[in-house]
Amino acid sequence: MAVNQKSLIESVPKGLLIGGRWREGGDGRTIAVEDPSSGSTITQVADATVADGREALDAAVAAQAEWAATAPRDRGEILRSAFEAITKRAEEFATLMTLEMGKTLAESRGEVTYGAEFFRWFSEEAVRISGRWSTAPNGATRLLTMKKPVGPTLMITPWNFPLAMGTRKIGPAIAAGCTMVVKPASQTPLTMLALAELLRECGLPDGVLNVITTTRTGDVIEPIIRDPRLRKLTFTGSTAVGRRLVEQSAQQLLRVSMELGGNAPFLVFDDADLDRAVEGAMLAKMRNIGEACTAANRFYAHEDVVDEFAEKLAKRMGALTLGKGTKKGVDVGPLIDAKARDGVAELVEHARAQGATVVTGGRAVPGRGYFYEPTVITGVAKDARMMTEEIFGPVAPIASFRTEAEAVALANDTEYGLASYVFTNDLGRMIRVAEGLQYGMIGVNQGIISNPAAPFGGVKASGFGREGGFEGIEEYLETTYVGIAP
Ligand code: NAP
Repeated sequence: MAVNQKSLIESVPKGLLIGGRWREGGDGRTIAVEDPSSGSTITQVADATVADGREALDAAVAAQAEWAATAPRDRGEILRSAFEAITKRAEEFATLMTLEMGKTLAESRGEVTYGAEFFRWFSEEAVRISGRWSTAPNGATRLLTMKKPVGPTLMITPWNFPLAMGTRKIGPAIAAGCTMVVKPASQTPLTMLALAELLRECGLPDGVLNVITTTRTGDVIEPIIRDPRLRKLTFTGSTAVGRRLVEQSAQQLLRVSMELGGNAPFLVFDDADLDRAVEGAMLAKMRNIGEACTAANRFYAHEDVVDEFAEKLAKRMGALTLGKGTKKGVDVGPLIDAKARDGVAELVEHARAQGATVVTGGRAVPGRGYFYEPTVITGVAKDARMMTEEIFGPVAPIASFRTEAEAVALANDTEYGLASYVFTNDLGRMIRVAEGLQYGMIGVNQGIISNPAAPFGGVKASGFGREGGFEGIEEYLETTYVGIAP
């Protein structure tokens, strides 16, 4: 059933959630939330001050001891109820995300399923936190290891997946018994505000989850990071901001997880099933309008198949319909803002100027909203900016390679190391290439690798730490060892 957008937006709390109470920002200022398909303002939310940020941390610190002492089953049940409540209200969450972020309803529904699954997964993990008991090698003492929650955690999330980037941090933190201050991106705060209210309704105690929205981001966040009561920082966003936050957190040697930018290579070998590779390329490139850290950024196809691959991909990309994400029949929504759209246009112009050929697309769409045409470019130089920088838009540059070793070398020739994709039907090659790729995640014959049951994360300038899988909860736990002499 179609959701009434006006009453949906009205139903979302617009304040800061601090200590279980929704309230205005200290100086009453607000942030305008924009619909990127039109540029018009949807609504306003509170704009937190430095003092609001400190109060959010105060609330998280005050709630920590009692929260850590709750029964794991109780924490798991809150997550399970939240999973069910999100699923029941999937259409509302999907509509909200489409309105504030731009992706189509179909994609937002996919994110609701993916995002909610982190709550189900970690509801199951909450009761499986365990330690170890062993005898020291010399037999003299017994070694007991136990797990404890890290403590108050600051979570900073980006705008591209407004729900899932939150649930994959909040889920394990709740399961582990950590309290939180969450700061969503100021361009997409509504989904997080709705999620916070849902968690309250599902029985999350006051002060466990505190949410602040702000445009004075650096000023509000830095004092929280430098506050010795904070015990962990988890950040998803750009590498540039991540680097700055790691520097700030060094002072008090904070536990840190960083989910940063990517520059994913997509390798198509001559033994691959080309139709399957094109299908995978569509997903890896066009999911989230190309605005994903896992988005295929550079396509390398073997010289014997590169022309056919490019032709098939261009045909599929050229057939996509652009428009407002809530409209029926639309395949691709707008980019997040004018800066993002102009940045994509600049990268395409740079590649063109170096002699690359635009096979399809290659234009920003004039008029309201921040649309850029799905684009395929061939003959792209190795040092073109779009091969070395995150494109974050619907543009697929294609180049060719001759040998397996060359393909792996091209793929690794970047500071990033998040996601990568390989299409081949040769098992030996699959293993060799997977072993050679310097990436945290490798998709073989598939264009989507994100999965709540798998450890998501990168190496090199893509960061450190893992979200999801069995590893995800470890980020929120400390190990204490007790030596016992019997
Ligand atoms: P961003 O500019 O780094 O912003 C991410 C978050 O950091 C936002 O909440 C932002 O707040 C906040 N922020 C900005 N400056 C800050 C500062 N000085 N101190 C503290 N917080 C600050 O990134 P983005 O453009 O939103 O997101 C896109 C990037 O995220 C891409 O690079 C993408 O690859 C990456 N990403 C990575 C993953 C992953 O798992 N590896 C997943 C998704 C996205 P404001 O909104 O208020 O500026």
